[in-house]
Amino acid sequence: MTIPNLTLNNGVAMPQLGFGVFQVPNEETAAAVGEALRAGYRSIDTAKAYGNEEGVAQALRESGIPRDELFITTKLWNDDHGYDSAVRAFEGSRQRLGLDYVDLYLIHWPTPRRDDYVETWQGFEKLLADGVVRAIGVSNFQPAHLRRLVDETGTVPAVNQIELHPYLQQAELRGMHGDLGIATEAWSPLAKGGDLLGEHAVTELAAKHDRTPAQVVLRWHLQLGNVVIPKSVTPARIRENLDVFGFELDTDDVARLSTLERGLRTGPNPDIFN
Ligand code: NDP
Repeated sequence: MTIPNLTLNNGVAMPQLGFGVFQVPNEETAAAVGEALRAGYRSIDTAKAYGNEEGVAQALRESGIPRDELFITTKLWNDDHGYDSAVRAFEGSRQRLGLDYVDLYLIHWPTPRRDDYVETWQGFEKLLADGVVRAIGVSNFQPAHLRRLVDETGTVPAVNQIELHPYLQQAELRGMHGDLGIATEAWSPLAKGGDLLGEHAVTELAAKHDRTPAQVVLRWHLQLGNVVIPKSVTPARIRENLDVFGFELDTDDVARLSTLERGLRTGPNPDIFN
């Protein structure tokens, strides 16, 4: 199973499909990540706020997979914003992950009311210059937040990880990412495995391609150029979500899924989440 890479704007290669561990308890994380690594995933998405960086570390250690074959993402939590706090928070995450360096470090939320994501970003620039992260990016940044970061620092994030699925397609942000050279990473790519997977359009395309609804939705993302990080603690689904490179949706199939847009968030609105 070969997972294609995207090339980030600083030349670093990032697998287009990875494994998310939001809401996986720390004591269950090593088993889930271990399962994912055995299935063939090499990119893991965690965060300080998930409280499971140690569980990820345990699975990485036990896997014996060479470090340079892995791509590990973690995120700075909201109460660690600011230049010095960001540098300190990173060191905590790095140690919990048991790594010499992290592949991608993200500002988890812009928290606009604190009004300090620019200083935080300057801390991220230092981490990048120090070589302890290979790429820096953001998460849940809206167009105005991205514009301000770029205007005030000149450093374009490598990635913006945002809620994105057929119910919330983020046309404006995706367009802006394309213009600026930011990779779009979709969180909750399956819209948390709820109603979306039972939609007619999805189940009919699943039947047409002899695939599952989740595989059809993940394929839609990949063909649009999104990075996806589906989460599952179920071994069969972990494998299913990776088995999405042996078929292709045609233009009409992609267009059909794109009619499901309804501006529906399953998570917080970044403009007011502080
Ligand atoms: P997903 O869209 O990945 O959906 C996960 C849910 O879908 C789980 O309940 C899972 O169940 C179920 N599921 C997974 N695969 C299948 C399948 N093949 N068929 C049917 N159901 C399935 O949601 P997440 O919110 O977990 O998002 C993915 C990742 O994105 C997170 O783990 C995290 O890494 C990241 N994220 C980032 C955020 C941010 O603010 N930056 C916010 C939210 C998520 P089960 O586990 O029981 O198998």
